[in-house]
Amino acid sequence: RTVYVNGEYLPETEAKVSIFDRAFLMADGVYEVTSVLDGKLVDFDGHATRLARSLSELDMPEGPSRDELLEIHRELVRINEVTDGLVYLQITRGAPGDRDFVFPDPATTPPTVVLFTQSKPGLADDPKAKVGLSIVSVDDLRWSRRDIKTVQLLYPSMGKMIAKAQGKDDVWMVEDGHVTEGSSNNAYFIKGNTIVTRPLSNDILHGITRAAVLRFAEEAQMAVEERLFTIAEAQEADEAFITSASAFVMPVVEIDGVALGDGKPGPKAARLREIYLDESRKVAI
Ligand code: PLP
Repeated sequence: RTVYVNGEYLPETEAKVSIFDRAFLMADGVYEVTSVLDGKLVDFDGHATRLARSLSELDMPEGPSRDELLEIHRELVRINEVTDGLVYLQITRGAPGDRDFVFPDPATTPPTVVLFTQSKPGLADDPKAKVGLSIVSVDDLRWSRRDIKTVQLLYPSMGKMIAKAQGKDDVWMVEDGHVTEGSSNNAYFIKGNTIVTRPLSNDILHGITRAAVLRFAEEAQMAVEERLFTIAEAQEADEAFITSASAFVMPVVEIDGVALGDGKPGPKAARLREIYLDESRKVAI
């Protein structure tokens, strides 16, 4: 695989970053994951806009321009012959040459920019969409700026391991009695004709897929209610689902051992998935 590091396209075995890189020592970096369908980028501009916001919230210098980023994404997709898959992008506060809590001067320490592709043939036909996910709830122990897409992923990673140890697929995190989001996705339930999901704030990542799916709700003739909700309420729902750039819309069929409805993926989440995939393919660049 060919990867991109600081202006160069290199074989992955030759790509190097410093041991003093702030992301390595302090998780001081941000990232984006953009999906590729039929060789095209889904919602590239949404990801580029969120990246710029993450950098700005952390007082990191502006990254490469939107057009430069698009060019790098496309070049990697082309070189690596990715039809379906993902492009991972990470920008860190660079490598100041020693360990220090104080931010380095960006004039002497440029950011580290890394991109690589992950080829996932059949990404849109994930068989999991036919069976649905089983979820367990855990306390949300992350920091309180989850709107910034940082590489601090230890707790979400531990969450996945908690789920796995119980033979389940993923976690929904809970704070003050209310669901925040999944380990790497936004969380929703459907009751009647209404999609319920937590409103945007610093408590959750502002999912690019979330924004798209809520836009498409109208096309699916569904209402949207953005409000806090509990695990108990979601367990009583007709359907539930998660969204992310890599999972698109993925049904949830069980929460903390309680089956939703008949325990099978429901028609409404399936319809939202179909609309999301169709519309995304149409506008992918
Ligand atoms: N919430 C969290 C914590 C995430 O890590 C992610 C994606 O990685 C999402 C939500 C979904 O965001 P998006 O739809 O932009 O992929």
